[in-house]
Amino acid sequence: MTSRNVSRRFALKSAAGAIAATAFAQGRKKALALIGDRYHNPDYIQVALEKMFDGLNVSVEFTNQLAALSKDRLKDCQLFLCLRDGMVWPGGYLGPDAYTHYSAGLEDKDDFPSPIAKPWLKEEQAVALKEFVNAGNGFYSLHNNSHVSLSSKTYRDVQGGAYVGHPALRPFKVKVINPGHPITQGISDFIVNDEQHYVEYDKDPKYLILQSENIDGLNYGKHGKTSPAGWAYDYGKGRVVFTAVGHTIHALWQPEYLKLQRRAVQWLLKEI
Ligand SMILES: [Zn+2]
Repeated sequence: MTSRNVSRRFALKSAAGAIAATAFAQGRKKALALIGDRYHNPDYIQVALEKMFDGLNVSVEFTNQLAALSKDRLKDCQLFLCLRDGMVWPGGYLGPDAYTHYSAGLEDKDDFPSPIAKPWLKEEQAVALKEFVNAGNGFYSLHNNSHVSLSSKTYRDVQGGAYVGHPALRPFKVKVINPGHPITQGISDFIVNDEQHYVEYDKDPKYLILQSENIDGLNYGKHGKTSPAGWAYDYGKGRVVFTAVGHTIHALWQPEYLKLQRRAVQWLLKEI
């Protein structure tokens, strides 16, 4: 074989590879992920979700910029994911984590203003999300994102429910209550040590896919031992999924839950 043949063969192979890569890139979907808040740092969420998205046919842009939820930023995307609550704290707060004495001791409380939460969502952002899903795209709402529904009827109508509250981290069971849904096929019930989020669900019960239950018999006040923990439905021409587990990396990576999140993304992208 002459060196000219080798280089020609190499050139053809490279060209074929470039064409295949371009075709793959062209077929690749785009997602925007708005993550992180006072109680959930964006680093752990991105670490957890990068593993979840790995190998799926979608490129993800992670951001913690609230203004990213906009008609303009969503126009080239097929999926919007949100794992953050509805609050911002413009006047500041004591430590990064209000639940630890370590953080609470960093400032002189008498000289520091009391933390006051404000909703961040603007109605035009809720409308942008509604139009995005109505047009045929997907919305994956995770964990404490049900809290955003408390600040907008429009957002709540798309998201499907609203946050009630949660006890401290404790083990609980997540049960698949609709094993026939494409998202839950092949997924077994699982146990996580996480925040068991209690949520109000507004839509038809037939769209519920998961329920959480404290099998140690622990209640959350008057809300009992169980809560809706996941749902999935068509909305306009698009699709919406909510799953409540997600306060920790180990919970987000629980093997059955990891599989379920990946199937949720595929279902939202209409691949299953
Ligand atoms: Zn949380």
